[in-house]
Amino acid sequence: MFELMKLPYDEDALEPAISKETIGFHYGKHHAGYVKNLNTLVEGTQYEEMSLDEIINTAPGGPVFNNAAQVWNHDFYWKSLTPNNPDVGQVIPPKLEKTISKYWGDVETLKTEFKTKATKHFGSGWAWLCLHPDGSLFTQTSPDAETPIIDPLIVPLFVVDLWEHAYYLQYKNDRGEYIDQVWTLINWEFVAGNLGVSTAGIDESKTSL
Ligand code: FE
Repeated sequence: MFELMKLPYDEDALEPAISKETIGFHYGKHHAGYVKNLNTLVEGTQYEEMSLDEIINTAPGGPVFNNAAQVWNHDFYWKSLTPNNPDVGQVIPPKLEKTISKYWGDVETLKTEFKTKATKHFGSGWAWLCLHPDGSLFTQTSPDAETPIIDPLIVPLFVVDLWEHAYYLQYKNDRGEYIDQVWTLINWEFVAGNLGVSTAGIDESKTSL
């Protein structure tokens, strides 16, 4: 049985950018719903004993894949965010900033590219910052439940949920304003950990940088 992950913070901890009401529905109804659906779908099937990653990389497109990928993507989304507080991940580690600067010049330019792709993305989906196997960083969006982890060589660094349920209660149809606000919540320590960049240096097993 898959379980709904525990949120790494209180439901009101991301206010005002993401309200307690939004998290109540998003985490408590949508995310929980994907977990519930997945458990129902895999019961008594070949997927029952698999991990989430194994299901995502095995199941053909359809309800099993969609619900498994939505669980994985939401887990990663909540971990990608943190309360807007310098003590809990809101400061970009210098080595990470240097890496971002190598590809975009500065973090603000990365944000502009990310926001442009996220706002232009048609319909539901996800906006990602990822590490390419050649060691470079790139942004991309994926439609509906799709997730970059279907390619085992791609390392996702952070994700923003572009489904309307992530922002409609507060921002209505203004996805750009939601991106601006959610950007203030990105957990840069989490990003650095995924990239293998820390104050101890760069983990060469993860990146050729
Ligand atoms: Fe969502």
